[in-house]
Amino acid sequence: MKLFDVYPLYDVEPVKAYDATVIDKNGIEYLDMYGGHAVISIGHSHPHYVRSIKEQIEKIGFYSNAVQNSLQTKLAKKLGALSGYDDYQLFLCNSGAEANENALKLASFYTRKSRVVAFHNGFHGRTSAAVAATDNAKINAPLNTQQNVTFLPLNQIELVRTELEKGDVCAVIIEPIQGVGGLDEGTTSFFTTLETLCHEFGVVLIADEVQSGYGRSGKFFAHQYHEITPDIISIAKGMGNGFPIGGILIAPHIKPDYGMLGTTFGGNHLACVAALSVLEVIETEHLIDNAKITGAYFESKAHQIPGVQKVKGKGLMLGLEFDFEVSELRKRLIYEEHIFTGGAMNKKLLRILPPLTISKKQIDQFIEALQNVLVEKPMI
Ligand code: PLP
Repeated sequence: MKLFDVYPLYDVEPVKAYDATVIDKNGIEYLDMYGGHAVISIGHSHPHYVRSIKEQIEKIGFYSNAVQNSLQTKLAKKLGALSGYDDYQLFLCNSGAEANENALKLASFYTRKSRVVAFHNGFHGRTSAAVAATDNAKINAPLNTQQNVTFLPLNQIELVRTELEKGDVCAVIIEPIQGVGGLDEGTTSFFTTLETLCHEFGVVLIADEVQSGYGRSGKFFAHQYHEITPDIISIAKGMGNGFPIGGILIAPHIKPDYGMLGTTFGGNHLACVAALSVLEVIETEHLIDNAKITGAYFESKAHQIPGVQKVKGKGLMLGLEFDFEVSELRKRLIYEEHIFTGGAMNKKLLRILPPLTISKKQIDQFIEALQNVLVEKPMI
């Protein structure tokens, strides 16, 4: 059987990794400035994480959600304490797309409505609210026409008001910092008015923190920069440091009911232990502070990179916008400098999403490598 060929692949095969270093099958070491789409939060193969998973698999890896699993409650307690949302409820699943599907479903049950408002260049996984970018219309058109999703431009609050006034919207879903789309953000006044409008019209506000959450932005959640409290917060990526796990944090006013949501794998023992050990490391190694400090350091140095038009993002969720498309630059960074970076729907944006353990020395190494590539052989 062949693999279903939907991803273009770089000719590199990582076989080992530690912290922000990835080693390929030929023994070449790479600096990981991408963390596999913001997934690696505490660094690859962190010893505490590896030990916790090993110890758990020797006991029990999985049983169904029809029986008690105190690891889920332990995880919910720790997550509540670190995120500042102890009064919220946690539903566990396996990925970001699944988290958002559950969030939308819940919003629809809660409001008994079905239309969703999302934003241009947003990305919420291969879900009902897939994406709004016109150049991705081929991928998403079937979803968008089947599902009742209205896409609006960011920061145009009056357009949101017009949609909510129609009275058929169950949820507004928004990334506090856009990831795949290219690091655009709503302003604080946009977010606070959005929250007010959602309250006024009885609409569920969903913050998609799948990529921006878990300390990456320099706060536990990126929406906390705007001092809003969404009704549902979706999480995944950095939550398991590579172990598949996702979830939604649900405000106390949304009451559970048996059978409302369900999952086979969500919240299994191994996933819970992986997620718990991630939170323990984030706390003991002060990784949210590190994201803030090293992110600011990166921004202070970014002007040294030739051709950078704009530095976008917060903490260690960063983007460098150039005046040329970056696909060739990314290839040269991998093959010549041995550094992984990311791209975006905005083809001129280089995405930087390293493990939250990254050091200033490694940032210097990255900036030096970018200078080498751009000065020695300019891209345009
Ligand atoms: N939401 C956001 C903001 C994302 O960036 C992604 C993935 O990139 C998803 C949801 C989907 O997550 P997953 O790929 O785990 O389904």
